[in-house]
Amino acid sequence: MSARRSVTILGATGSVGRSTLDLIARPPERFEVLALTANRDAAGLAEAARRVGAKRAVICDSAFLPTLEDALAGSGIETSAGPEAVLETATLGADWTMAAIVGAAGLGPTMAALRSGRTVALANKEALVSAGALMTAAAKESGATLLPVDSEHNAIFQCFDRDRPHAVRRILLTASGGPFRTLSLEQMRGVTPEQAVAHPNWSMGAKISVDSATLMNKGLELIEAFHLFPLPPEAFDVLVHPQSVIHSLVEYVDGSFLAQLGAPDMRIPIAHTLAWPERMETPCERLDLVRIARLDFEAPDETRFPALALARQALREGGARPAILNAANEIAVAAFLAKRIGFLDIASIAAETLAAYAPPPPRTIEEVLEVDRAAREASDGIMRRFAH
Ligand code: NDP
Repeated sequence: MSARRSVTILGATGSVGRSTLDLIARPPERFEVLALTANRDAAGLAEAARRVGAKRAVICDSAFLPTLEDALAGSGIETSAGPEAVLETATLGADWTMAAIVGAAGLGPTMAALRSGRTVALANKEALVSAGALMTAAAKESGATLLPVDSEHNAIFQCFDRDRPHAVRRILLTASGGPFRTLSLEQMRGVTPEQAVAHPNWSMGAKISVDSATLMNKGLELIEAFHLFPLPPEAFDVLVHPQSVIHSLVEYVDGSFLAQLGAPDMRIPIAHTLAWPERMETPCERLDLVRIARLDFEAPDETRFPALALARQALREGGARPAILNAANEIAVAAFLAKRIGFLDIASIAAETLAAYAPPPPRTIEEVLEVDRAAREASDGIMRRFAH
């Protein structure tokens, strides 16, 4: 990597945000940090802003602004607060913006970054699931480069021949199967949030960890992949691969399969987007294939993991369905983490919300946000019947 790049990290205090900061802090002269954002973690935001010499630190929840100001007193780092300040931060024109806010809350800021026409590294899959067509259209219009951070999509991006999409037969997204891969439905009924967030291979935020346990994450990733790679819905499939060594595969019409392999460490795909189209060193563990020795594969079981089937259906039906599925899932996962509903109720609530609410396809971001709001309200009502 040669030229110095200016960067902004939306969601800097989260799992992806911290991994990004770790890479940026290693060769600090290569990066100029324009801004970091968080929701409520003022202490974590202030510490990160001082460490990487950020120009600006923005907290979404204004109630935490005094804490942020105290923590940054005397540093010369500018502070601001509120959703509008986060939106404005996304338009500062950084060469490279990491979109790593969790959930549909990241939609507005991610869209704003895309509209500024620079490079956006996208981790915030819920935004793409809810408004994929609008986001890719915005990127096309502004000339922004959208680089996938999700390990599967980053793997596909590295293997996919963008000049010859017609030569691709199928895309296989790999899934570890999560912590409950071998449990029966009956055994899954009583699992706790603590068990669900203990992912066997990856260290991630709570929401995506639960999504990995239900396989909703893989379902959302199918929809995400559909928006990133120009193939029909039926060309995307899921392959359970418990070791998480192969991060996804692209099958070509001649029978060739191209795959990307690497240690299960998010700093590898993040580094790929940070240096793209060049490459940069990372401190990540190297794969020792002799020690790994074997790679296993199995088909996903949609009876035990109905969330995957729901996502496939939402992908096929299109329109508002993916945004409704995403909103209902966010509500249900938050309720599960708060121990108000059981693990299996997450997919049931998503299914009931999809059955109860069928608006026309949203044509603008405002309409997507309205679908998201109404779907949350509907699933909140449905959830009350499941709550204990
Ligand atoms: P975390 O929960 O660890 O972090 C989320 C970040 O978003 C935090 O900085 C949080 O701030 C901020 N945030 C939360 N809610 C809001 C809000 N309403 N407005 C503004 N900022 C908000 O999530 P992850 O890092 O695990 O995931 C981030 C995104 O990346 C998700 O979309 C996830 O699906 C995707 N992803 C994550 C992977 C991983 O390995 N973790 C892998 C691939 C994709 P605060 O800390 O103050 O709450």
